[in-house]
Amino acid sequence: MKISIIGSGYVGLVSGACFAEFGVDVTCIDKDKNKIKNLKKGIIPIYEPGLEDLVKKNLKEKRINFETNLAESIKGSSAVFIAVGTPERRGDGHADLTFVYEVAKELAKSLNHYAVIVNKSTVPIGTGKKVYEIIEENKKNKELKFDVASNPEFLREGSAINDFMRPDRVVIGCEEERPKKILEELYRPLYLLETPILFTKRETAELIKYAANSFLATKISFINEIADLCEKVGANVSDVSIGIGLDGRIGKKFLHPGPGYGGSCFPKDTQALVKTAQDYNSKLSLVEHVVNSNKKRKKNIYKKVKLACSNDLRKKRISILGLTFKPNTDDMRDSPSLELIPALIKSGSLLNLYDPEGMNEAKKYFKKYKKQIKWFDDAYTSMKSCDAVVILTEWNQFRALNLKKVKEMLKTPILVDLRNIYNPKELLDYGFKYSSLGRPDSLFV
Ligand code: NAD
Repeated sequence: MKISIIGSGYVGLVSGACFAEFGVDVTCIDKDKNKIKNLKKGIIPIYEPGLEDLVKKNLKEKRINFETNLAESIKGSSAVFIAVGTPERRGDGHADLTFVYEVAKELAKSLNHYAVIVNKSTVPIGTGKKVYEIIEENKKNKELKFDVASNPEFLREGSAINDFMRPDRVVIGCEEERPKKILEELYRPLYLLETPILFTKRETAELIKYAANSFLATKISFINEIADLCEKVGANVSDVSIGIGLDGRIGKKFLHPGPGYGGSCFPKDTQALVKTAQDYNSKLSLVEHVVNSNKKRKKNIYKKVKLACSNDLRKKRISILGLTFKPNTDDMRDSPSLELIPALIKSGSLLNLYDPEGMNEAKKYFKKYKKQIKWFDDAYTSMKSCDAVVILTEWNQFRALNLKKVKEMLKTPILVDLRNIYNPKELLDYGFKYSSLGRPDSLFV
């Protein structure tokens, strides 16, 4: 089978490489010429573990190729995936569908054979219908027959390949037999692993993606607020997480407090769902609270650092470990660092920054703070003569720091752990002033 994927970012590229690995003939398309030029040589534009090897292997075996010309590249494809970005629209919080509709218009001009158009981008309910209408109204070949299906993607950056190859489920919104058969065939390798494949109405599939992300965001915000309460009442949030997570109805995952959720999905998707609900006069007040709770958390998390630094951040030099929104990615979109760093600088701090893979991306966001920021290539040297160190992203290399060395590097041994990766007692025994989230035996709660 031959397929094409329009948009070769995190989702398009990972999906393309994985389908190629399943044996499908894949063309990944992108309008970014430089990206495609590099991909043809096996140069990957993003950091995603395992992706480079997978792309190179499939390039060599000629199962994947990269092109900019959409009209040429979709020829002969049974399925054409749309995997372009759907960022938050400036000003109103709705999903910006400009890129999706642009692709629909291009398809109307160039599609000349039956294909199922599969929307993998996260899009509001009703977008599949609109894509169908755009192609139908603008199609150059008036005889053209096609279908539009929804196939939301649930992969997580940092473990995207495994998530794609061994997903908890595949959701396909499509009711017609012809496209269903194509998509069943395409996902056949996953049937062998007994992956549940859920066929639904197109609108239902579109909503499942938003509902899943909003539910996960709710879990995170819930435990963040419980962590705040723990600090007030002297309870331990780690034990609360275990205590509630062992209940099979609740589950253990997504119950770790942190500096607020970020990334390219949760913030924009929760916001977009709230907007959709408002449009349909069916207010989702719970998700609205989650959105606001998370914004407040990201805005205020610098206060944790301030408290640890005797409530005065003026001229304090602080090392920040981790800038990306989560480990194992270089994605900076909506990362908590984008709120924390300006807030610390505004309070008078000077910052030493280090991230294992996200430095190039991060530098694009903090250009205007040249005077206040120094960049480092390693965690320990970034701490040299600092008044405090903050762990912001839980990269593995920050989980087992040599604490003796950390103490030697710092001017004052203050460690603010915004991911609760260290044991408070151990840190206090080492002589650190240690601050974490919702744990009464760390200081400064
Ligand atoms: P991305 O920004 O990394 O990639 C999008 C790509 O589309 C870019 O390379 C861009 O150049 C290309 N593009 C835009 N318009 C184009 C056009 N007209 N023709 C060809 N290429 C075009 O985005 P992403 O993170 O891969 O996200 C894509 C979609 O998948 C979004 O809707 C997102 O919400 C959803 N999603 C993302 C993730 C994730 O972890 N990143 C997970 C699940 C779902």
